[in-house]
Amino acid sequence: MLSAEIIAIGSELLTPEKTDTNSLWLTGRLNEIGVEVKLKTIVGDDAARLEETVRDAVKRSDVVITTGGLGPTEDDITRQVTAAAIGRELVYHDEIEAHLRTRFRAWGREMPEINKRQAYVIEDAEILPNPNGSAVGMMAALGEKYLIVLPGPPRENQPMFDDFVFPKLREKSGAIVFRKRILKVSGLGESAIDEAIAPIYSAYERVSTSILFNKSEVEVHLTAQAANAAEADAVNDELAAKIVEKLGVAVFSTDGEEMEAVVGRLLAERGATIAVAESCTGGLIGERLTEISGSSAYFIEGVVAYANEAKIRTLGVDPEIIEQHGAVSSETAAAMAAGMRVRAETDYAISVTGIAGPTGGTDDKPVGTVFIGFADRDRTKTFRIGLPGDRYLVRWRASQAALDFLRRQILKR
Ligand code: AMP
Ligand code: MG
Repeated sequence: MLSAEIIAIGSELLTPEKTDTNSLWLTGRLNEIGVEVKLKTIVGDDAARLEETVRDAVKRSDVVITTGGLGPTEDDITRQVTAAAIGRELVYHDEIEAHLRTRFRAWGREMPEINKRQAYVIEDAEILPNPNGSAVGMMAALGEKYLIVLPGPPRENQPMFDDFVFPKLREKSGAIVFRKRILKVSGLGESAIDEAIAPIYSAYERVSTSILFNKSEVEVHLTAQAANAAEADAVNDELAAKIVEKLGVAVFSTDGEEMEAVVGRLLAERGATIAVAESCTGGLIGERLTEISGSSAYFIEGVVAYANEAKIRTLGVDPEIIEQHGAVSSETAAAMAAGMRVRAETDYAISVTGIAGPTGGTDDKPVGTVFIGFADRDRTKTFRIGLPGDRYLVRWRASQAALDFLRRQILKR
């Protein structure tokens, strides 16, 4: 089995503000092809420490991947330092400079002279093109080993890794393949899920199963090992199907898809439209739904009706309903959803009204009390939930509960 190590480069990664996510993503991909990550390091923009780290890394690991520090500025030192660490020169490539000039011109700008630095590549390294940025990557073979140097931004290094590095390492690693599947489950807790599915997954010796709680849902991670990807996928498929059979509609995704994407797909498949009326979620549901490309096919309108006057004026909620039952009530949620649906002339509407906290709770309706409303052309439905967590989590979980309620209603039709 090939051993790998990852070096995340950048002083910002050593502050409390910025997390190294590149190594997590890369580890996932490497595990898929049976390459085990043995060590990860975070190094600031410090030439001496970086050189020492890279030099040690290529001694002990078969595959060394660095990310970051390939920008054009003074603090971006990865190019020259990795070259020095493996005792090679940097070689200037005219064609990279020409390509950079063309890119800048396409944005209507002249290339700053400092960007010329990005035309230097480690001697005898393969150049990894970067369609999403100005820094090319590099892959240097050191005998049987590899040093792979990637840019920092995930949107640049991920396609680069998938297109150029992944196929090469897969070829080298041969033997076993790991493939991962993520199932997402709503409305059931971790232990209930484990109790239900442990007898199913424990029969699969070559799949490791883990159950994790993630903000507002439980994820079931399946990692199958097999001789090739097709075989591993087939085992995952089979196990996933058995889990879905057991847990039913609670499983909202069997391939890691987010709730908003699942709901969007259901709406698009049916040619149905949606509008949302939000109070305590402040637009979060609208934001999540419209995050999905193609959402203009089904998302018609979202309203943030925070104050009572807004619920009355914009959604047509009867002031007496609010007076009698309160703004946070089943009746108000129902009126918000019904009013929203009529106003937007959609097939469905959902609404949320609740107490996100930390203030505003009462004995009857403590912080985290949320009412979700749903309306279609024939009827209105509501439900009440009590959500744990701080303000951020209550709002997030309320948005998830509303989208899940919508999903379940659509599936019933
Ligand atoms: P750099 O290539 O060092 O100029 O990094 C460019 C940007 O990539 C940084 O500002 C970060 O936003 C991002 N970045 C760099 N390294 C990482 C990392 N390990 N994980 C996540 N983002 C990163
Ligand atoms: Mg940097």
